[in-house]
Amino acid sequence: MSTLDFMLERNKDFAVHQAARGTLMPSLPRALPNVKAIIIGCADMRVDPAYVLGIQPGEAVVMRNIGGRITPGLLEQLGLLGRIGEVAGEIPGNGGEFNIVVLQHTDCGITRLAGEPAMLTHYFQIEEGELKAKAVTDPRAAVAAAVALLRAIPVFPEGWLISGLVYDVATGLAEIVVPPARIRAVAHEPIGIES
Ligand SMILES: [Zn+2]
Repeated sequence: MSTLDFMLERNKDFAVHQAARGTLMPSLPRALPNVKAIIIGCADMRVDPAYVLGIQPGEAVVMRNIGGRITPGLLEQLGLLGRIGEVAGEIPGNGGEFNIVVLQHTDCGITRLAGEPAMLTHYFQIEEGELKAKAVTDPRAAVAAAVALLRAIPVFPEGWLISGLVYDVATGLAEIVVPPARIRAVAHEPIGIES
C-alpha cells in the first residue's frame, strides 16, 4: 500500500468516526462556542498542537510556519483570517475567553539557518542588523519577541489573551515563557484617592 493509500484509508476511518460522533463541521456556525484559540506554531512534525496541546477538532485555528515566527507572511494570513471571520459573521469564543498562543520549541530547525542571514532577513523582511532581535537560536527569547510584536499590532480585540510557550522536544512538556495576559491593557477609570 502506498503512503497516500494508507492516508486515505485513515481518512475513511476519520470520516466514519467524526460523522458518528456528530463532530463533522460541514459549515461554520455564526457563533463558534468551541473555538478557544489561535495557535501560531512551527511546521515541525514533532510539535503539532493537536498532539502536544490536545487540540480537538473545532477548538483552535492553527497557523504553522518555519519556527512559528511572526513574519509578514503570517501577518497577512492573520489579516485574511480576520476578514473571513468578519464577512462570515463568526464570533470566536462566543464572548468567552479567547487566546492567542505562540508555541515555539527546543531543537527547532530554524536554528540551523543561523548561518544563513540572507534567508532569514528575507523570511522576516528585515535588515541584517535587526536579525539579532529575532533570537533565532534561543526559543525563550524568540517567543517573548514574537509576543511583543503581536502586542504592538493594534488589530486584535483588546480582551483577547496572549501567551508564549516553549515546548521541550526532549520532555514533551510545554513551558509558559510569557504568561497569558490581555493583548492590550484596557483603559480604566482613574482611581480616586481618599483624602
Ligand atoms: Zn521548529
